This record gives sequence, structure tokens and C-alpha cells, in this order.
Amino acid sequence: MSGKIFVAHDALSGLLDDLSKKFKVWIPQMMDQASGHIAFGVYAPGKKPELTRRSRLSPKKILFPSMDTLFKFTYVKDPKDPVRYTIDLKESFDNGPTLVFGARPCDTRGFQTFDQVFLKGQYKDVYYERRRQNTLFATLVCQDSDTACFCSSVGSGPADMTGSDMAVIPIEGGYVIEGLTDAGRKLVETSGSAPSPEQAAAAEQMKRNTAALKIGEDDLTGYADDLTRRFTDMDFWREQVSPCITCGVCTWVCPTCYCFSITDEASGMSGERMRSWDSCMFYLYTLEARGHNPRPTKMERYRNRVGHKFSYFPKKYDGMVSCCGCGRCIRTCPVSIDIRKVVKELKETADDRA
Ligand code: SF4
Ligand code: SF4
Repeated sequence: MSGKIFVAHDALSGLLDDLSKKFKVWIPQMMDQASGHIAFGVYAPGKKPELTRRSRLSPKKILFPSMDTLFKFTYVKDPKDPVRYTIDLKESFDNGPTLVFGARPCDTRGFQTFDQVFLKGQYKDVYYERRRQNTLFATLVCQDSDTACFCSSVGSGPADMTGSDMAVIPIEGGYVIEGLTDAGRKLVETSGSAPSPEQAAAAEQMKRNTAALKIGEDDLTGYADDLTRRFTDMDFWREQVSPCITCGVCTWVCPTCYCFSITDEASGMSGERMRSWDSCMFYLYTLEARGHNPRPTKMERYRNRVGHKFSYFPKKYDGMVSCCGCGRCIRTCPVSIDIRKVVKELKETADDRA
């Protein structure tokens, strides 16, 4: 076998039906026709993957759910001494075999940020790790950039298969699906028929053409020191961020934002420890118990958001920018703040002053 199969458009549902017998398959799907809201949901027979329009929400919830039960607890009274009790803990893992089909390269690459933080540090996040180990990515070679996309500006591109197990390559009449890792090749080879020589050649050509595209005008890597120079210039940050209403939607839609809070939800003698998404754009996120807040205004908070992605993270992780250029924060910000413009102005202003 070549490690590739061809799937005609009208055979895609059959393939997903078969795959969903072995995996929990997530696909981008239409959630609301009226608003055109596309997000990742679990495939069920009859559901159609949306592969030609981008999803508003990224697939990050698949490995990092917006609300996740970490464990359940019950206080158990000692029947002989009712003032004493023990705590019975039950870990909660939802980590069966999972396949993400049809994510874009930016989304799959977004999990590289999570990998650095949740897997490669001194401590591993076992909840993320188990899901990561059990999840395969079949990533679409992207044909649908818009003016908010800038994946090439952050070291990636529309055919970048970093972190992918399979490439889904659109050609006339359907898709060539190519295995890229051992697990991906194994799955592909048991899932269909090899493409004809013409189909294989068309897929190679499509990959080459897409890889040659430059999505985004500027190189937005290498800004780590510019941020440091502008750190205390609050006039600069006020100018950039004055319209911000601190809604936090930029962090909600972002495939590389991973702030979270931990809370206990209890009723009577039992309850759950939950992890929920949080946002560094919220005042309460950094409010300390005694009332001090190191990021009291939206200026400090947005500076942190930009600094984290384009300065602190690359300084810590070998130059890796923790933004995949998906453009979601630009599309969804209600006051049209454009992170590309803010980053660019860091350098331009710094250069102007030099
Ligand atoms: S989406 Fe826009 S308005 Fe909302 S917090 Fe982010 S930058 Fe501010
Ligand atoms: S910061 Fe904006 S463009 Fe970058 S990964 Fe997050 S949502 Fe996408």
C-alpha cells in the first residue's frame, strides 16, 4: 500500500461511519444555519463535515475541554466516630480513541503550544496527556484563507502538517488522504482504496501549490525584545487597546490560549473538582486574595496577551511563537482589535525611535 487512499465526495460519509465505529470522530459541522456558526462536534451518521468554510471555534476543547471534571470526591463519615471522616476520590478520565477529521493546519499546530506547557515541563498534565496520546489528527490542506489569516507570518503555512497523523488533500471529485505517522498510515491503509496515479499526482501538485502560498504579509516572529522595550510605555498600550471591552472572546476562540481555573462544585457530602477555561483578559483572573491585582487595567492585560504569545513564550521555548495565525481573534473581536497590527507596531515604533 502507498499509505494513501482516495475518497470520493459521496463516499466521505461512509468513511466517517466506519471510522466512528473505532473512534470518537470530531468534525467541523454547522451548528446554526442562521448565523453560519461552525464548530467541532462529534460525528454521527447523517452529519456532514464542513470542509470548505472555517470554524468559528477551534478544536482545542477536544483535548482541553471548556469544563472538565478532574475527579469526584465524597466525604465518608467514620461510623464509629462521626466527627472523623475520610475522603473517597475517583479520578475521571474521558480519553478513548479519538480522531479529529478536517481541522486546519493552524488548529492542529495550535496543540504544539499545549504540548510544550502540558507535556514537556517539569510536571505533566495527565488529563491532557491521556487525550493527546489517544487522538489522531487528519488535517485538511487549507484552501480557504481570508484576510484575517496569517499562518505564514508565524512560521507555518496552509499545507503545514506539523502535529498531523494524516493529510486530507482536496482534489477534483474528492480527497486523497495520506498517512504521515505510523498510526496515520496504519489507519489509512485499512480504510479505503489507493488513489489512481492521476489522483496521486493531483494531490502532490495540490500540496506543492498550497505550500507555496504565503498567508499573511509580515513575518511576526522575532518580536520578543521589542515587547520588552515597550513594556512600560503605557501610552502605547492605551492607544492599542482603548476600544477593548474586555469581553475575553479573543481568548475563548484562540487555539493556543490555555488559561484555566480550578473550582470545587459540591452538594452535601460529595462533589467534583472542575477545571474550566479562564481568560487573562478578565480582571478577576489575576486578582489576588488580599485585593492586589498585578494587571488592574485592560492595558496590562492585553500587554500580557501579546507578550505571552510573541515574547515570553518564544523566549522560553526556543523561539516558538504561541500564536498559530488562525485569525479567529481578529474575526470575532467586537471592536476590531487586530493582534497583527499591535505586534507590528511594537517593532515599527521601536525602530522609529532607534
Ligand atoms: S475580543 Fe477584543 S474586545 Fe474582547 S477582550 Fe479581546 S481584544 Fe478586548
Ligand atoms: S492569538 Fe488570534 S490569531 Fe493567534 S492563535 Fe490565538 S486566535 Fe489565532
